[in-house]
Amino acid sequence: MNQYEILKKYFGYDNFRDAQETLIESILSGRDTVGIMPTGAGKSLCFQIPALMMEGITLVISPLISLMKDQVGSLNQAGIHAAYLNSSLTMNQYYKALEFARQGRYPIIYVAPERLVTEEFLDFAIHTRIAMVAVDEAHCVSQWGQDFRPSYLKIVEFIELLPQRPVVSAFTATATKEVRDDILDILQLRDPLVMTTGFDRSNLYFGVMSPKDRYASVKNYLERHPGESGIIYCLTRKVVEEVCEKLRQEGFGVTRYHAGLSDQERRQNQDDFIYDRLPVMVATNAFGMGIDKSNVRFVLHYGMPKNMESYYQEAGRAGRDGEAAECILFYAGQDVITNQFFIDNNQDNQELDALTRALVQERDRERLRKMTFYCFTNECLRDYILRYFGEYGSNYCGNCQNCLTQFEDVDVTEIARGIVGCVKACRQRYGVNVILDTVHGANTAKIRQYRMNENPHYGELAKVPTYRLRQVMNYLQLRQLLTVTNDEYAIVKLTADSRQVLEGAERIVMRMAKEQERAAREKEEKKKKSAVSGVELTEAEQKLFERLRVLRTEIAREEKVPPYIVFSDKTLISMSKIRPCDKAGMLKVSGVGEFKYEKYGERFLACVGEEISP
Ligand code: ADP
Ligand code: ZN
Repeated sequence: MNQYEILKKYFGYDNFRDAQETLIESILSGRDTVGIMPTGAGKSLCFQIPALMMEGITLVISPLISLMKDQVGSLNQAGIHAAYLNSSLTMNQYYKALEFARQGRYPIIYVAPERLVTEEFLDFAIHTRIAMVAVDEAHCVSQWGQDFRPSYLKIVEFIELLPQRPVVSAFTATATKEVRDDILDILQLRDPLVMTTGFDRSNLYFGVMSPKDRYASVKNYLERHPGESGIIYCLTRKVVEEVCEKLRQEGFGVTRYHAGLSDQERRQNQDDFIYDRLPVMVATNAFGMGIDKSNVRFVLHYGMPKNMESYYQEAGRAGRDGEAAECILFYAGQDVITNQFFIDNNQDNQELDALTRALVQERDRERLRKMTFYCFTNECLRDYILRYFGEYGSNYCGNCQNCLTQFEDVDVTEIARGIVGCVKACRQRYGVNVILDTVHGANTAKIRQYRMNENPHYGELAKVPTYRLRQVMNYLQLRQLLTVTNDEYAIVKLTADSRQVLEGAERIVMRMAKEQERAAREKEEKKKKSAVSGVELTEAEQKLFERLRVLRTEIAREEKVPPYIVFSDKTLISMSKIRPCDKAGMLKVSGVGEFKYEKYGERFLACVGEEISP
């Protein structure tokens, strides 16, 4: 079979995506090959398909047990024999798997890097023909990367011990120039073909909001997206627990994940999410590495992460199946302080000398600033992200909040002067809320207690809506015309430039979403409701999709695999639109291969049939 036949027969797809074809051909020609492609681009096929065509076994090196399990599960479902060797196996299972491997039962074997140079494994590898070593998540070899794994350095050691050098291929989604160079050097690749595809994920919608009440906004979002799978990232464990508990009490199907939970609870919760038993995961950034769940329809950030790298990685867990998905960041000024605290107290840097530590902190602060700008920019958000990673965008993507909003320039000089004046008059002693309440003329116990009702600016901006006051406050911080102390009190302070505002030397102009636009959008948001975001399904198609989804869950339960491994959302959507009535029709649906058809094609056909003629 050639690569095109394999693609159709086992994976059920008609065409390769751009880079896939080139990468596969390069590997098949025996050349070392590196693929740098964003999440969801389809890296796995690039080594899985050649693995089925080459003489000998392909070893796939992967850092995470969950990843291996997922990929091997997918391959087995597609009718391809594959196995994994890692510490999750008992001694017995391990030897059995090795025995089968020796008999040549598996064209593809996933191995944890630390296994490679163990005695038993080496003995096996030296006496078998290894056609290729494919290094997944290859950025783990680099100390520049975010997830350096020392065990990845064993890969080269292992390859050198083999009687015949196999083809070496490496794949990753994150590669700045340093990381890329490290991959080539450390893995000692020979004249490799290196292919980088763009980082853009055009199916992802990006948005930023700074609502008064974050919790209410998130809740509202979930109400508008019932049954959809999503992740809510929070900055701290405490917030994870609070948000998860509140949502649970309000009846949402949520679970939680953070490093403070027991191994057992983490495993359980992760499975509940992956198997679609609970659609929404509330988690810290400890969650997600190696989660391949393809039908995540939204990633909400309940708080701003510490840098764009983290943000894009986390947000990128949405929409791996290529269907529309949403990434929305809910920002509040407090997030900057929380992150600054993380930077100042970073335990990972304890071993560095003082000078290096200061440099690292400086770099982290700069990254945080760029992240904060993302929350305030009025430009195309996708453009901002791509430029951050060194690519050129198009200035207009048409699928982010800013591209879909009309802006106007608003002169906020008077508002700014009132706020800064108030800070000065109270001798820089209070936090953001007290200042804003004062200029807005709130009559609360706290204001009276601090005697802010006697402040000369009290009530001066009573006519300006609070959300606008907050916007201006954020903007003043961003421009460093005011600053907020980096401690739990978060006191608003003047800066060297604050004087400019008081003297009124320069007009202060902010670009803001048009008023009517804002109201209209909010209304639209409230109305918008669809089970599969982005895709237009007619009512009948939607009904069929729901039925197919139920059948998929049933089969997943029987097979003990996550539902998305049976068929992706994309495949089910395509099935609801095409409504195949026979085998040939079913095989036309993208994602239905022959093996899967044999296994459960008829049950899906029957389901389509029932829906058409009930
Ligand atoms: P990555 O490892 O790059 O994040 P995956 O290998 O998990 O991406 O692939 C992402 C999704 O795209 C999977 O659901 C996969 O089946 C699908 N896919 C891969 N290649 C193709 C293709 N040529 N046509 C259609 N879908 C594809
Ligand atoms: Zn845009």
